[in-house]
Amino acid sequence: MNAEPLRALPSVDRLLATAEARSLLARMARPLVTETLRVVLDEQRRRLRVPASNQSDSQDVLLDAAAIVAEAERRLARLAAPPLAPVVNATGVLLHTNLGRAPLSEEVARAIADAARGAVALEYDLATGKRSERDDVVADDLAALTGAPAATVVNNNAAAVVLALNTLAEGREAVVSRGELVEIGGSFRIPDILAKSGARLREVGTTNRTHLADFKAAIGPATALLLKVHTSNYRIVGFASSVDVRELVALGRARGLPVIEDLGSGALVDLSSLGLPKEPVVREQVAAGVDLVTFSGDKLLGGPQAGIIVGREDLIAQLRANPLRRAFRPGRLVMAGLAATLRLYRSAPDLTQVFPVLRAACRSLESIEETAYAAAELLAAALGSDYRVALVESECEIGSGALPDAVLPSRAVALRHAKHGPDAIAKRFRAAEPPIIGRIRDDAFLLDLRAITDPRLLVPRPASDARSGRVGT
Ligand SMILES: *Cc1c(COP(=O)(O)O)cnc(C)c1O
Repeated sequence: MNAEPLRALPSVDRLLATAEARSLLARMARPLVTETLRVVLDEQRRRLRVPASNQSDSQDVLLDAAAIVAEAERRLARLAAPPLAPVVNATGVLLHTNLGRAPLSEEVARAIADAARGAVALEYDLATGKRSERDDVVADDLAALTGAPAATVVNNNAAAVVLALNTLAEGREAVVSRGELVEIGGSFRIPDILAKSGARLREVGTTNRTHLADFKAAIGPATALLLKVHTSNYRIVGFASSVDVRELVALGRARGLPVIEDLGSGALVDLSSLGLPKEPVVREQVAAGVDLVTFSGDKLLGGPQAGIIVGREDLIAQLRANPLRRAFRPGRLVMAGLAATLRLYRSAPDLTQVFPVLRAACRSLESIEETAYAAAELLAAALGSDYRVALVESECEIGSGALPDAVLPSRAVALRHAKHGPDAIAKRFRAAEPPIIGRIRDDAFLLDLRAITDPRLLVPRPASDARSGRVGT
């Protein structure tokens, strides 16, 4: 035991009194600084207790007060950065649910930041000075974009479906085709959602074929509504048929039953006009007579996470009166972001220049290849001779259940290492600052370029020591 140096270690109080610690305390909370100093001190103490002959890192023992405070400061720097900092999405999945789905356009991000800083007229009519309805913020734009007379907004599309079903079908039956009992992922399954909403599922038809007659036969005194669900993340091909929404609407009208459609992604514009595969357009479903249409704000729409319900005024009024609407209502950041997104849909001359997902989806292969080439060169230079860097063909998907059979051709940089497998490469890129997320294919780590316009983003910068240092453990 090495008693001399142990006694030489400064106390926490002495450390706190140093000029370095005092400057640290001006920036960070005292209990956190104290705790971190204590942790660093304990480490030094433990090292000193190891007999000198066993010490492999005796030169690392910090005895000097300034050095101990500097070490604590290095660890604390990690806490100065927000935990949910940006990452680089080179996965080839444009709307990656685990990476936060739609990246927002610059203007929308600014609108959210502006609303974040202070008060906004969220439920306040500036003309009269009276209280207004939160949905008014987006009502006009949604009406103009979808043709529906009324709308309400909740936190996500799952909540939108629950709210609609609970309001209109609690204790009664919702009739839905067996071919549309979808699971979206993240435990969104139509049968479970129906059960939780208090509605009873009345399934009709078969997995691959459902006819109007199936719906007709199922309607009885307990029927509350007819439900259509967009099978957004899969396709039934081959001997298949489903009931056209116009037929369902006609049946609903004849029997006095509302028709509700969960569109999932829900495009506000016809994507085929941008050269992409067609996804159902909200306006077209409204025009077809669907009484309520629900869709997500952060899928193809390209806005913040939200669930949007548009449709008949009387039904929307019923939804608003449901206490669940209060439980599901979004805050001002979402409303500001959604309002700015919708306004861009109405005003921007070219949507593919404004919305990152549309821009990425519509990007030419030529442009992707150019960035991929530049990225490959940068990476070859930065990574050293143990790495093999190649330019390869790749495929992108929109993701989040939108356009499941749309495969967008792309280019990727493929990385292999002389000694390590792709998992180790992926780990190294995840540890970079900012973290870079790719995917593994054929024993290589792939970085897809469709969503990346600046090749420099793909060169991993080592995390500062501060970031990798651990606080309090
Ligand atoms: C994505 C999706 C949902 C869930 O929407 P969230 O906004 O993720 O809550 C519901 N229904 C369908 C058909 C979907 O594609």
